[in-house]
Amino acid sequence: MIQIDKNNPILFSDLCDRYCKRYIKLNEKKIDKKIQSYIKKYGNIKIGKFYQKFALDWKILIQAKPKDLINFKENNYNKFNLLFKVKKNRKQLLDLLGYERVRKTKFVYEIVKDMGIKACPYCNAHPIHAYKTQTKSRLQTQLDHYFPKSIYPYLSVSFYNLIPICSYCNNRKGDQEFPPKFYHPYRDNVANKFRFRVVNNIKKLHLDKDYRQNLKIKVDDYTNTIPQFSKKMEIEELYDNYTDVAAEIFEKSKIYNKTKKLELQKLFKQVFNKKINDQDMNVLILGNFVEEKDILKRPISKFMQDIAKDVGLL
Ligand SMILES: [Zn+2]
Repeated sequence: MIQIDKNNPILFSDLCDRYCKRYIKLNEKKIDKKIQSYIKKYGNIKIGKFYQKFALDWKILIQAKPKDLINFKENNYNKFNLLFKVKKNRKQLLDLLGYERVRKTKFVYEIVKDMGIKACPYCNAHPIHAYKTQTKSRLQTQLDHYFPKSIYPYLSVSFYNLIPICSYCNNRKGDQEFPPKFYHPYRDNVANKFRFRVVNNIKKLHLDKDYRQNLKIKVDDYTNTIPQFSKKMEIEELYDNYTDVAAEIFEKSKIYNKTKKLELQKLFKQVFNKKINDQDMNVLILGNFVEEKDILKRPISKFMQDIAKDVGLL
């Protein structure tokens, strides 16, 4: 899991503002009218009491930050959570908030595009695309409800509960909830809490023709919670598909020594008539971004950075 708004918290609160204003403008009248009809219909039974409270809170919930969402589900709304184990109650609230309608609106496309991420923040392996054809805006991503909508339907359209992720991760997470106090991709920096490496000590591998077949990927976790996440998302198994990339990085580490890099910098200047700094030269050699802040700009950056550091290419 990689943090999404690490480098641009201002942009993020702006995106949240835009989302909330558009959502409220489109839905306010309908939602308020329906809530009033439910209050009337249910009176003082528990679901009626829920709607009395929700009438005052729903606009706050749309824009609540991750820590406030936790507070809502664990304190303010804790006594109502059981209500939504009943399918009828759950469906009624989901229909009221209209997540399915939201998912199809153009402004969700615009927001995901403006987030500037091109790789899934959960696995970092699969791409996330927002693009336009002549007639349509396409969103090649799924939106995960970090706090599942099947348990907390009142959080189903909250901005900070919607995480653009790939379908692989969405299938694995499903309707389940992360462990308590788990990382939230809009809030926590996790990239430095785990690293990928090759199980066999790559530096000591014999460079015979079969060495590529002997590579196996492992995730080293420095916390108690990430291993559960990696296991659930089958991260090690997924990245075992990229042993060829690890092998290429290892091979590059043998070829691109300091002298070779200097030669290439000179060549670059000749060809493009401009200087290239060490950092950009490393990007060119690795074939991916080399800084932690850029991990979500291209798939498998985290993996490639870790392996490159492991073998001394970075
Ligand atoms: Zn993913």
